[in-house]
This record gives sequence, structure tokens and C-alpha cells, in this order.
Amino acid sequence: MEDLEITCPVCGEVSVALAEDLETLEVGDVLECEACGAFLEVVSLDPLELEVSEGGLEGFFVDCPRCGYTLEVSEEEAGQEVECPECGFRFVPDWSEVEEVEEDEE
Ligand SMILES: [Zn+2]
Ligand SMILES: [Zn+2]
Repeated sequence: MEDLEITCPVCGEVSVALAEDLETLEVGDVLECEACGAFLEVVSLDPLELEVSEGGLEGFFVDCPRCGYTLEVSEEEAGQEVECPECGFRFVPDWSEVEEVEEDEE
């Protein structure tokens, strides 16, 4: 197996997936673009096809109640527990509040 170039559909940046990483890759896995931070879900392995699962456009931003880090959550995760990438704190965002913020910005 050879290394594979992956083009991010969000920012167009090309990153290289190592062959050893590809061997463990499965449909449904999510890769993160190092350039723009977009989450790319693997929808097919041969050929490799990626779908943007969180492109930053549909996501919401919530503050971690423990350290205040602002993290992005997708609408699909509503009602689910999320983990803060900064401090590892797990919590369920208040989605009613998240929606209010959206309305305020309009
Ligand atoms: Zn990108
Ligand atoms: Zn945190």
C-alpha cells in the first residue's frame, strides 16, 4: 500500500495519509484537516472518498464550562455528550442556548 494524497474538500489543501494509517482506516472514520480543521468522514475506501461532516459552516460553538475553551459541535451531536479537546472535560451542551446565539447573530 502506498501513501495517499488527500485533498480537503473544504480548503483544497492537500495532505498525505500514510499507508500505515490507511490500513486501519474504516468507513465512518473521521479525519481532521490539518490546514482548516474540517472534519472529513470516510464514506468509501476504494477509491477513498471523503465527506465533510463538520465544515465549520453548520457547526455551533459552545464554551467548555470547565476551562472556557470554545469548541465546535455539529447539529448531529445535539443532545450528546461532547469532550473538550483542551481539558478533556465531558459535558452535554445546552442546545437551547446554542440556538439562541444563532438567532442573535442574524
Ligand atoms: Zn481543509
Ligand atoms: Zn475544557
